[in-house]
Amino acid sequence: MLNHRCFLTICAGLISLSALIPTAFAQKTPIRIVADLSDAPRKLYHAEVDLPVTQGPVTLTTPKWIPGNHRPTGPVDEITGVVFTADGQTLPWRRDDSDLYQFHVSVPKGVTTLHAHLDCIVTERISQKMAVLEWEKLLLYPANIPVREIPIQPSLIVPAGWGIGTALTPIGSGTYPVPAAGAAGKSAVTDFAVTNVEQLEDSPIISGQYFHEFPLAPDVTPKHYIDVVSDSPEDSNLRPSVLAELNNLVREASTEYASHHYHVYHFLLTLSDVAGGEGLEHGQSSDNGVEEKGFADDSHQLGESDLLSHEFTHSWNGKYRRPFNLYQDDFAKMQQGSLLWVYEGMTQYLGNVLAARSGLKNQEQYRDLLALSAAQLDNKSGRDWRPTEDTAIAASILRGGNPAWSNWRRGQDYYQEGELFWLDADTLIRKLTDNKKSLDDFLKVFLGLGGDTGPEIVTYNREELIKDLNAVVPYDWAKFMHERIDLINTRADVAGIERGGYRLVYRDKPTKSERTLASEGGRRRGGLDCWYSIGLAISGEGQIYDVRWNGPSDKAQLAPGYKIIAVNGHIFSPDALKEAIKAAKGSTDPIHLIVQADTFVSSFSIDYHDGERYPALERIDGTPAYLDDITTARTKTEKAPADKSKKDDSDEN
Ligand SMILES: [Zn+2]
Repeated sequence: MLNHRCFLTICAGLISLSALIPTAFAQKTPIRIVADLSDAPRKLYHAEVDLPVTQGPVTLTTPKWIPGNHRPTGPVDEITGVVFTADGQTLPWRRDDSDLYQFHVSVPKGVTTLHAHLDCIVTERISQKMAVLEWEKLLLYPANIPVREIPIQPSLIVPAGWGIGTALTPIGSGTYPVPAAGAAGKSAVTDFAVTNVEQLEDSPIISGQYFHEFPLAPDVTPKHYIDVVSDSPEDSNLRPSVLAELNNLVREASTEYASHHYHVYHFLLTLSDVAGGEGLEHGQSSDNGVEEKGFADDSHQLGESDLLSHEFTHSWNGKYRRPFNLYQDDFAKMQQGSLLWVYEGMTQYLGNVLAARSGLKNQEQYRDLLALSAAQLDNKSGRDWRPTEDTAIAASILRGGNPAWSNWRRGQDYYQEGELFWLDADTLIRKLTDNKKSLDDFLKVFLGLGGDTGPEIVTYNREELIKDLNAVVPYDWAKFMHERIDLINTRADVAGIERGGYRLVYRDKPTKSERTLASEGGRRRGGLDCWYSIGLAISGEGQIYDVRWNGPSDKAQLAPGYKIIAVNGHIFSPDALKEAIKAAKGSTDPIHLIVQADTFVSSFSIDYHDGERYPALERIDGTPAYLDDITTARTKTEKAPADKSKKDDSDEN
């Protein structure tokens, strides 16, 4: 669809769908929804929904395909206590036989408002002190209508004294009657301005007892905030250094993307060991969850260093510019993932780059983490049978799951593969233009399209990417994409790293950053890293999560799920295994293991003699260090105040 950018507000495809609108909903009165989070400590949400109707059969639905999840994760299985009433009478309902998200109700004569009560059993993003509302937990609206055409006015009830963070526009306190579902101590209802179902689904709320809202980069328009809730009172009061880095992030993104596609932006952040991790992008906000101490010091922060910059970047790349087949006008329709190597892959690249430019991590940490990512891809054997594009097309069946043999299966690799792809493209543009142009020039066209806009959605396809890249520098970009994305590549694309002035190498000691991640955890917490040596992903207790296909442990017939009990005659410990790997170097003796497999015990020998191997980037002397140019701040940076790292993970050992 070259020259065929589809601004959805004028997209002809939407018009024909209006023929499907049931007559019972052909009116402009907004749905009213009151979300009651006052029972959050008991892990229950409630909703009262008033739907404007006329007489006849109506079909209501809850969201199935959740934007940003790229999967049919709407929690219809947790929605309970559904009761429809009209004029005080309870009305019968019937679930659709094939679409289990839909409810059929017959509206009696004379009824103009159908009332629905529903509850949701909430299992994640919630604790005794906080609650996150992603609206698919409570939304109910007429089926088979483009969701942006359904007006809705939301209201919210939270436990007394809890703060509220959201990009929704508050219009004051209301007196909307709420039946006595839930705990005592409700605060006043907060009413929000009328929006539509598409935007409401894109506008989550965080609420909590320990709440802080900080304005960011006051010199930048529109306004930016970070809203934080935590389980411990001290954690929501973010360190001054983190706030300085987020000020930098707002300025760096505003400069890099030469636009904003929101009226206001709220980073929503939960700090809790109970509420779980999250990173979900929205147009005017992002829903971010890290462990309780995730931003408490620099060491913990390293594991989360790209989270906020990644989700923020999505406001441009993903929410505003959206792949044509990932966008659907109705949450009932499958969101197709073939361009996720742009949606997520370019965001992965830019999220890490902006984190480095902002000081959320330093340039050395950027390189260390890039080395880990590139090495992981380069040693992922599933690339022998599965191209990157297939990890994107199959995204909805590749998240999480069993780690066993996951390197042979591959996961959602379009994130990291896309990161290497866009680094390759960035450094190639620099090389072709003698460093006069870069991906920055492409981004100003692709993401900055239209300048500052509201939270719109503008779709694109591969042809537009090629056209916009060619406008920066003529090249065979179609072939460039085809070779890297569509074809089987048995090795990772490290061309961008090398053109950037570095090469991927393996050393006998982990980088400082890898040691920090291993000791402080965060999202990458793991046991001993012996993936690049004997080819095992293993816990500190010897539990084998995964075995590298065709690696030394695979050849020794080890398998995921086995547990190492002893190493070379010693009871297993990470140190004992490390010593055995060291001792085997330069020797012909294999590493002897005693292993428990199910209820049996047996011995294995790993024939491996290359010692410990940990990925790192090494400077290629005499070449341009584009990688360092790329990660250098573009704006005048705020120096982080002197509360930086109390923990000095220095280089001894
Ligand atoms: Zn993402």
